[in-house]
Amino acid sequence: MTVSRRASRPVRVADQVIGGDAPILVQSMTNTDTEDAKATADQVAALARAGSEIVRITVNTIEAGRQVPEIRKRLDAMGVKVPLVGDFHFNGHKILAQAPDCAVVLDKYRINPGNVGHGTKRDEQFSSMIEKAIEHNKPVRIGVNWGSLDPELLARLMDENGKLARPLEADAVMREALVVSALESAAQAVKWGLPADRIILSCKVSAVQDLIKVYRDLGARCDYALHLGLTEAGMGSKGIVASTAAMGVLLQEGIGDTIRVSLTPEPNGDRTKEVIVAQEILQTMGLRSFTPMVTACPGCGRTTSTYFQELAERIQSYLRNQMPVWKAQHPGVEDLHVAVMGCVVNGPGESKLADIGISLPGSGEKPVAPVYVDGEKTVTLKGDRIAEEFQAIVEEYVRTRYAAGAQAQSKPRKKTIAIQAVDS
Ligand code: SF4
Repeated sequence: MTVSRRASRPVRVADQVIGGDAPILVQSMTNTDTEDAKATADQVAALARAGSEIVRITVNTIEAGRQVPEIRKRLDAMGVKVPLVGDFHFNGHKILAQAPDCAVVLDKYRINPGNVGHGTKRDEQFSSMIEKAIEHNKPVRIGVNWGSLDPELLARLMDENGKLARPLEADAVMREALVVSALESAAQAVKWGLPADRIILSCKVSAVQDLIKVYRDLGARCDYALHLGLTEAGMGSKGIVASTAAMGVLLQEGIGDTIRVSLTPEPNGDRTKEVIVAQEILQTMGLRSFTPMVTACPGCGRTTSTYFQELAERIQSYLRNQMPVWKAQHPGVEDLHVAVMGCVVNGPGESKLADIGISLPGSGEKPVAPVYVDGEKTVTLKGDRIAEEFQAIVEEYVRTRYAAGAQAQSKPRKKTIAIQAVDS
């Protein structure tokens, strides 16, 4: 099943394209102090290596702006070419003027129209940032956020709403204000000379139903490329579930040209988790492929040891860790499917549907693990080295099936690698 994408203007960001027919890109953002060039470059590199295709850094002080060229230099020295986006708010006009190299080195500017100044200063400061983007041929994301909505615009819309015969509810006016803020700010930028094909819009909110309504409306009222994300999604499973619920609906409707999953990391948690979740949203929806997927059953009373979970985790980590090398050496390997099942109930069936499957025995079953390759049972593993032997089979499969130059070789059938749990 294919998803028909909303038509949007493609925007070039360094060597990437957002919108048009380009694949939906995964973005992320650092949480380091940008004045610390080493820490920031290291985190950008980690995010890029995890698969982030564009990385945003906050540029909140003049010194942070001055460190941007050093961050780029360090990334280039590490061989990390990922485009860098500068996130600007209240003082962005000053930073771009007083740290001019930052304006040159960044690949895109993100400007929040609700935070660029108020009253007479607003247009002056916003236009000075747009002028820098025009001068340096940079694209701009006009990124509206629920938490920093332009108060004057909101007051204007509330006032107009109050005069209607049938006024809208306050939350509907808030949503309208988000969309109007993005569209009016984009129109101003175009009037000042920024080409429309250098504009990306976003309107982030923190509630799932609001995000869906806002983006449906925004998507219908313009053809700008859209950056999608639920802001302040939260920690752990709540953040993942909320982001997936909101973005899943919109992506299924073809809305969204680039996504970010805004997870709050656990203390000392890994920032790259947001990249993996974004990739998994796109891959499980069939919109893009990034890394071989493992299909695993949840396990139940038939699996009385942790061996099954450990093997599933081991294979998933192994596949992900191999990807930086495999991507270059084994074209198409990201489409490989691996399934990990728990016992004879569903194991053989899922294993046969997989590219490679191993069916681990449940409690009371004979302690052997049949392996299926392309739907056929090829070997039965037993003993203490089932994990190592299965991993070797996967490695050999990838080496032969996805050999460089063998892309044209058609796969005999849809495949997954399935693992069914062994109980000892
Ligand atoms: S495949 Fe077996 S172990 Fe896994 S959930 Fe089903 S019955 Fe339980």
